[in-house]
Amino acid sequence: MAGRSEKTRKSTSEHRLDQYRGMRRAERTPEPMSGASPRGGKRHFVIQKHSATALHYDFRLEAGGVLKSWAVPKGPSTDPRDKRLAIRTEDHPVDYLGFEGAIPSGEYGAGKVIVWDTGTYLNLAEEEGRRVPVAKGVGQGHVKVWLEGEKLRGGYALTRTGREGARERWILIKLSDEGADARRNPVSTEPASVRSGRTLDDIPEDGS
Ligand code: MN
Repeated sequence: MAGRSEKTRKSTSEHRLDQYRGMRRAERTPEPMSGASPRGGKRHFVIQKHSATALHYDFRLEAGGVLKSWAVPKGPSTDPRDKRLAIRTEDHPVDYLGFEGAIPSGEYGAGKVIVWDTGTYLNLAEEEGRRVPVAKGVGQGHVKVWLEGEKLRGGYALTRTGREGARERWILIKLSDEGADARRNPVSTEPASVRSGRTLDDIPEDGS
């Protein structure tokens, strides 16, 4: 039975990556094409700084065997008064958690990527006293998590506010807790990768 459910789980998360793979040419981009979550253990998040057509921060939460993803043009704030627009993007493979490098020009998402922050998270979403799985919450338009990153710590809420064609518009807000700090502005004061110490400028145009 255990083997059977593992298989089912895998095929579901593989199917969730169809859109991701359909948008990319595996032989041309250095981006990972697979990777699933191990059973049990803590779930991870990553925020990647990405100099694509427009600079943005990709906020990704490991859930349902993939990385649920949003593009945040201004990046996350530590000030609970800030509402940051977050556009939902395609699910990414779990192996994307550590990805840094340059996506070649002409390819989808062409530009440089660094791991701006990463760590583990706890799911805070509850409905009538019951935990709502993150993947389910994404479908319902409500996500609430506690981040344990190097730059970001504390609660964040993501709420769907509407749709623009095929795109879902969400808002990312810092919750009021000990991780909140209106004076910090890590997006501008802490630009380097927590993985390599490199900034986007340090990433070579071709290669990783
Ligand atoms: Mn991106």
